[in-house]
Amino acid sequence: MLEVREVTKTFGGFLALNRVSLRVKEGSFHALVGPNGAGKTTLFNVIVGRYRPDGGEVRLRGQKIHHLPTPKIVRLGVGVSFQRAQAFLSMTARENLMLALLGLKGGVHRARPLAAFEAEAARAEELLGWVGLESVADRPAAELPLGDLKRLDIAMSLAGDPELLLLDEPLAGLSRAERRQMVAFIEGLLRRLGLTLLFTEHDTDAVLRLADRITVLHQGEVLAEGEPEEIKRDPRVIEAFLGGGHAQG
Ligand code: ADP
Ligand code: MG
Repeated sequence: MLEVREVTKTFGGFLALNRVSLRVKEGSFHALVGPNGAGKTTLFNVIVGRYRPDGGEVRLRGQKIHHLPTPKIVRLGVGVSFQRAQAFLSMTARENLMLALLGLKGGVHRARPLAAFEAEAARAEELLGWVGLESVADRPAAELPLGDLKRLDIAMSLAGDPELLLLDEPLAGLSRAERRQMVAFIEGLLRRLGLTLLFTEHDTDAVLRLADRITVLHQGEVLAEGEPEEIKRDPRVIEAFLGGGHAQG
């Protein structure tokens, strides 16, 4: 589904990504883990065309996408939800979804009243149902608890009907109970839609529960890649993250 090959990204003289390669298999749940500053968000930004890599390439189903602008990449089937929610807080959940849907169509044509966008309204309703936000659809996003806001954000990222979904720290800021709900939600929704997922997350339990494959990024480089069971036992990973012996959950 996705192939990142030898991608390098520098900021000034700083090497944020150093020849990073990874392959995300169709239908898999692939975790990208690593400490803060490892380069995870930077890699997401490269994949969705917000940053242009200094070297290497990114392919979606074999097609090179690293030179394309973000809207084109979205139209090719990539959805993304970053750690910082993208919703307009003064607008309702439904309005935010309408905005996402109309934005995909290249904006609202002035000659048509909003009520003419029936297909989009129906789709917004469907997306609200998928993320379980029907009952709060007409409340301003600012009034929603963080868990709801994150699900709204995921719904917005699904507006373009992606095949590949990128979730950047979907559990960040959530309580223990909310995290458990969110993991179950992501699992259920994405398996049902048959999406391929690439996600970053610090919550080890969630990563091990969701991921079929894990890539470990450390200081801008791939430290290890493999199945969760291999990664858990990888001495390089243990050394880098658990400080050689001070293991904890
Ligand atoms: P992660 O998401 O793994 O925590 P990031 O990708 O956000 O890491 O950051 C990787 C490194 O790149 C950090 O040292 C960060 O300060 C730097 N960085 C990220 N974005 C920029 C930017 N736009 N300009 C300068 N430095 C950046
Ligand atoms: Mg990040």
